[in-house]
Amino acid sequence: MIKDDCIFCKIANGVIPSAPVYEDDSFKVILDLAPANKGHALILPKQHFDNCFSMDDETASKVFPLAKKVATAIKEEFNCDGVNILQNNGEAAGQTVFHFHTHIIPRYKDDTATITWKQLTTEPAEQEKLAASLNERISK
Ligand code: AMP
Ligand code: ZN
Repeated sequence: MIKDDCIFCKIANGVIPSAPVYEDDSFKVILDLAPANKGHALILPKQHFDNCFSMDDETASKVFPLAKKVATAIKEEFNCDGVNILQNNGEAAGQTVFHFHTHIIPRYKDDTATITWKQLTTEPAEQEKLAASLNERISK
């Protein structure tokens, strides 16, 4: 499905121009318009999915192999010290464009990009309970 009022549907399907890095039957990879670092790329599926929750397993299974290829190309091209592969789902998680996309961000030891969180403390018994509860959901 392609959503008429979705900017990433338009970019992924060539209706709006972008800086294309790669394209196949399922995805278009473009450069981010407002990058965290030079070379920051976005993997866009050509079909519209709001987020990972509405994405079919077949498309989802193709995302990481492509992310790995793009990350490898970025590492070679920029000789960066590291690469973030990240993907936001929902406004609370930092998603601002509600068409699934994966960020590939070149990183340097002294760069100004910030992808961090304050680390909470944990308690072993609670961790064990949480892990078991999640395991039950994943396994059913
Ligand atoms: P997120 O916060 O995960 O939803 O990321 C949205 C990303 O899309 C941001 O990094 C924006 O800079 C980028 N972005 C928004 N509009 C465009 C556009 N027209 N072309 C390229 N990148 C865009
Ligand atoms: Zn879309």
